[in-house]
Amino acid sequence: MYALGIDIGGTNTKFGIADEKGNIPYQARLKTQEFAEYADLIYALKNDLAKNFNLKDLQGIGIGAPNANYYAGTIEHAPNLPWKGILPFSADVEKIFELKSIITNDANAAALGEQVYGNAKGMKDFLVLTLGTGLGSGIVINGDLVYGKHGFAGELGHTLVSATGRHCACGKVGCLETYVSATGIRRTIYKLLADYTEPSLLRGVSYDELSTHYITEAAQKGDMIALKAFEYTGRVLGMKVSDFVVHTDPEAVFILGGLANAGDFLLKPAQLHFEKSLMPLFKDRQILLQRSGLKADDAPIVGASSLVWKYLSV
Ligand SMILES: [Zn+2]
Repeated sequence: MYALGIDIGGTNTKFGIADEKGNIPYQARLKTQEFAEYADLIYALKNDLAKNFNLKDLQGIGIGAPNANYYAGTIEHAPNLPWKGILPFSADVEKIFELKSIITNDANAAALGEQVYGNAKGMKDFLVLTLGTGLGSGIVINGDLVYGKHGFAGELGHTLVSATGRHCACGKVGCLETYVSATGIRRTIYKLLADYTEPSLLRGVSYDELSTHYITEAAQKGDMIALKAFEYTGRVLGMKVSDFVVHTDPEAVFILGGLANAGDFLLKPAQLHFEKSLMPLFKDRQILLQRSGLKADDAPIVGASSLVWKYLSV
């Protein structure tokens, strides 16, 4: 049997068919912003799938989405999606596909994917941070995802780094995701370009073109601004992860997403400052801070489809 995994992002909606081993025989993507109504997006992906796959072989549908409420099956006031308000997304997917579905925050889906297919196999206590446009987090304690009273637990991206810091899309000031995300490092680069006079490959690059990939390439060429930006971003990440550790005493913290693809440029300073800032009680516990074991392209699909194996399989 197969599960359909759907990952709804502000730019792309990725979807694909996965088996229980995490193989993905089919996957595709649609541009989220092209659909004025979310139901049209669901119909479009059903049509695409029906052309390439026998829908009768599906066991269920797992959906990862920003601001998803696991309990209510809704997406609620997601700032980066074109549809406003509280959307009964899971119920409409079930109607259109005539299959059971389950929805959760995209970072929670990633954490589940890590547990089922990635480096967290056999682990009961760990954290997954998704470093994309924003910073998402999925917290697993004693083998289970933490949802909290209202279904919104694990918004680490909106914990405080500096009370007088950067303005965040959520309405607060100084949130972690304004520093540690694809958008965050871009903001850091602009600040460094203003503070230093050294030549840099990043000078003259427009804000929209300043991708994590481009910054990583500059760092590989020894660009001082790019290296400083990774050092700063890694330091903030490492310090915040050490803060998190005292809350749940995890075995490991995994990072994935575009910014995590920078590899050691980000991880080395993150590890250094993580260990430096760790409460002494935890110093000998060998808590891992490492990259996700999921392939970057597959992670959204296997993460969403693992919801089916975890919650819907009989
Ligand atoms: Zn925020």
